[in-house]
Amino acid sequence: MLLNEYGEDGQILAGGQSLMPTLNMRLSNPQLLIDINHLHELNSITLDDNIVRIGALARHSELALSPIIDMYLPLIADAIPHVAHIAVRNRGTFGGSVALADPAAELPACVLALGGTVVLQSVKGIRKVKADDYFLGLYETERKPNELLIEVQIPVQDLTGLWAFVELSQRKGDYAIAGLAFIGTSEKQFIKTAKLVYFGSEIKPTLAKKTMAILINTRWDDNTRKLIAETLGRDLDPMTNLQGSAKMKLHLQKVLTNRAIDLALKREKPSR
Ligand SMILES: Cc1cc2nc3c(=O)[nH]c(=O)nc-3n(C[C@H](O)[C@H](O)[C@H](O)COP(=O)(O)OP(=O)(O)OC[C@H]3O[C@@H](n4cnc5c(N)ncnc54)[C@H](O)[C@@H]3O)c2cc1C
Repeated sequence: MLLNEYGEDGQILAGGQSLMPTLNMRLSNPQLLIDINHLHELNSITLDDNIVRIGALARHSELALSPIIDMYLPLIADAIPHVAHIAVRNRGTFGGSVALADPAAELPACVLALGGTVVLQSVKGIRKVKADDYFLGLYETERKPNELLIEVQIPVQDLTGLWAFVELSQRKGDYAIAGLAFIGTSEKQFIKTAKLVYFGSEIKPTLAKKTMAILINTRWDDNTRKLIAETLGRDLDPMTNLQGSAKMKLHLQKVLTNRAIDLALKREKPSR
């Protein structure tokens, strides 16, 4: 109701870990803060028919301790320790991270890599948006100002498949300069399918579609490494900012791609 009435002049207060610093620095000036922390129905993490449902108010630290995340979404379990520091993880929420869509945030990249669906609620009802259609640009998403993000639904990972989460930041707990969420399938060290989502360097979590196409049904060898190093430059368009130049970030993403695929294939079970 309040969101509908105030639109862009009203701001949801979830964990406050991104919003409060912008208020302190006078970078945002909402007329109204709408504190949703009392909506306890939004802080559960459940498994429902092979879909993990993560409530918007689930704290990062609750994801870190959740047996459901550990068992069914190991990509997210691997990503969480990279999100800030413990104090921030104790307050910051999954929904806040996906709503804000910071380009250097880990969790939006995981939601895109895992084919998640963002559930939005307004006075008109509930709307479900696929992650592919949700992240539009720099801090820009498909969520309208009068919509509350209530939940993210993520299909359970193929536990026989490949995955890796890697990132580089200046210090542990800082936002990523470059990072990658990788999901795939393999057979006897041949990559069958691959999904590569880059963050940190790009304005939004970005699928590297040309590089993904090269990896289909491919042996992971020096030739493939060379090919993807060439192709990644056509998929990515890194931002130059205080953390580094576009050229440096592209180089880091190439290094991370090799690291992620090496790590994922190391986990491949010999029996397959
Ligand atoms: C020192 C520090 C380091 C950090 N490092 C990282 C990092 O490495 N990686 C990372 O990903 N994050 C990092 N963060 C941010 C942290 O993860 C935040 O928790 C997260 O970005 C936002 O979650 P929040 O619950 O705190 O949202 P809030 O700060 O409460 O809100 C953020 C924005 O999202 C909106 N919003 C929040 N929830 C909803 C909702 N349910 N529906 C609609 N809109 C909503 C708010 O109105 C606001 O505009 C860091 C923060 C700090 C202070």
